[in-house]
Parts: sequence; structure tokens; C-alpha cells
Amino acid sequence: MDDHTQQEEDKFLALVSARKDVDLKISEFTPRTMLAVPVHSIARAKFPAIDFHNHLDAQSPLQMLKVMDECHIEKIVNITMRVGDAAFAMHRKFQQASATRFETIAWFDWHDLHDEGFWKKSVERLERFAEAGFCGIKIWKDLGLTLRAADGELLRVDDERLMPFFEKAGELNLPVMFHISDPDAFFTPIDRFNERYEELAAHPDWSFYGSQYAKEELLAQRDKIFQRHPQTTFIAAHLAEKSENLAYVSQLLEHHPNLYVDMSARTAELGRQPYTARQFFLHHADRILFGTDLVPEAESYRLHFRFLETADEYFDYPSHASRQGRWHIYGIHLPDDVLQKVYRENALKLLTSV
Ligand SMILES: [Zn+2]
Repeated sequence: MDDHTQQEEDKFLALVSARKDVDLKISEFTPRTMLAVPVHSIARAKFPAIDFHNHLDAQSPLQMLKVMDECHIEKIVNITMRVGDAAFAMHRKFQQASATRFETIAWFDWHDLHDEGFWKKSVERLERFAEAGFCGIKIWKDLGLTLRAADGELLRVDDERLMPFFEKAGELNLPVMFHISDPDAFFTPIDRFNERYEELAAHPDWSFYGSQYAKEELLAQRDKIFQRHPQTTFIAAHLAEKSENLAYVSQLLEHHPNLYVDMSARTAELGRQPYTARQFFLHHADRILFGTDLVPEAESYRLHFRFLETADEYFDYPSHASRQGRWHIYGIHLPDDVLQKVYRENALKLLTSV
């Protein structure tokens, strides 16, 4: 900290201690907006929608179908977190409930990473998923952040031993979904400057501040894979983990025609930059997938619809129990042709190519 910053910091702390008796705790501050603006509650999506990013392992398929019918959700893609036989059993469970309303994305299985022949086995597993009718496979952020080889070295996202796996995925027309790294705020200190302080204070284990590979490096490793395997289709979940900077995501989509992004769990980010987000959706209408990453409930789906379909101002974003940051969102009132692509047509392109 330089002298000037130190002085500022001292001044701030003196101010805080002088006001201690009148200062509310952040956790007790729950202001109610006095704003009077139009409110449009969208009960059902304007067009049939496919939720391309969800986790249904713990849900009852029949209960899900009820919510889906209520909200005009045509299909949900369940990204199962089960591996081995349990993954196939999960896929069957949802297929039996409805072969047309549910799809399954497999989870990359690292349990035998240290066994001989692991990399080859990963390719064979992929073939079995394709045979069983899975619609993709997901690689999660443990790659690059925590997974270590037998010698103790952290695995790189662009580890070359995974190359045959990505090539095979291309051959099988099986999209690979990546969730590498996390929001920018999870890579900065948990302090008063952190815009997601409350969330991180409640879940300090979500912070990757000080990780061996900085966030930008993790993304660069991931992006190298998009480049290296042009015949393979990739889905970068959560707006390629860079919804704070849509110019970056835009460039990424322009550089890699084999790439799609999903919007799941990022409505809060998109909705606080409605002008930029609207331009982004108009420009990349063919490459964005609707998804929520939230337990399917009518209220949560409705907030997504309100964001995409209306020009409503300053409303709550959909989220699970923990809030992402202290702000509200604005609708981006997308035109019908864009809504149809984002809700459904882009997803169908991926689902029917398998
Ligand atoms: Zn997810």
C-alpha cells in the first residue's frame, strides 16, 4: 500500500469508528425500493424453452414436469453429477419419465486419475455415454484449481493427455461443456472492496484468491482447447465465466465458431448491464443457450422470462439462497426471433447433432 492509499485507509477507518453507534451491519440493511415503475409478470415463456443447464439428480422427474408444463419449458438438460453406473441409472430414470422432455450431460469422471490407462479410459467412457444417448459431457473447475497428478503437480486445463478425448468428442458429435474458474470476485480478496463480499463471507471456500493459476490464465488454457479442436463443439457455461466483461465473451465467440455459451446463473450479471447485454444477445443470437442452473421452480423461471422478454426496471434477479451482489436488474426486451433462438433453436441444433 503506498502512502496515499494508507492515508485514505486511515481516514476511512477513523470515520467508521466515529460512526459506530449509527452504522447498521450490512446483513441488517434490507432497503425497500420506493421506485414506482411498470411490473410485468411473465408466467410462461413466450416460446417453448429448453433449460440447457440444470442439475436434477436430487429432483423428482414428475414434479419437474409439473413446473415445466406450468412455465412452458419444453426440455431440461440434466447435468448429472453422478459418475460410473450411477450416471447411467440417472439418465435412465429421467428417460423413463419422459424421453422427450429430459436430456443428460455426463460428468467427467476423475476418480481413477492416478491409475494406469486413465486417459484412454476417459475416451472409452465417452463412447459409452454417446451410445447410451447422453447429449454431452461436462468438465468442471476442479480441473485447473484442485486436481493433481500422481506427482502432486496441479493439472493444467490444456493438459495434452486430454487431446484424444476432445478429438473423440468431435468424432461422436458430443458437445463438451466447460465450467472453468468462477466469477472475477472469487479471485480477489474477501474484503470491503469485493463486490460479492456477503456471498463470499458466507462461503469462504468459494474463494480462489491466491490460486496457483490466476483466473485469466485458467481461461487462456481453456480457450486454447477451443482453438486446438475446431471439429469439436464446446459450450462455455455461465457465459464463459466472463459475464463481467461481455466484450471478452464476444471476441471469444468470434474467434471460435465451434463455441456456444450458456447464460445460466448469470442473469444477475447480465441484468445490471442491460444495454451491453442486449447488444450482446442481438449480436450473438445464434450462439447463446438459455439455462438457469437453479432448482426448477416457477418463480425463478419467471424472473428469467421477465429479464429476457420485458423492459422492466430494477427488479430482483433469480438466485438461490445466497445473493450474488447488492444490485438489481433491468429487462432486455429481446425481439421474438432472438428469443426463439436463445430459448430453443440453438439448443435443438446441439441436441439433434448427437
Ligand atoms: Zn451448473
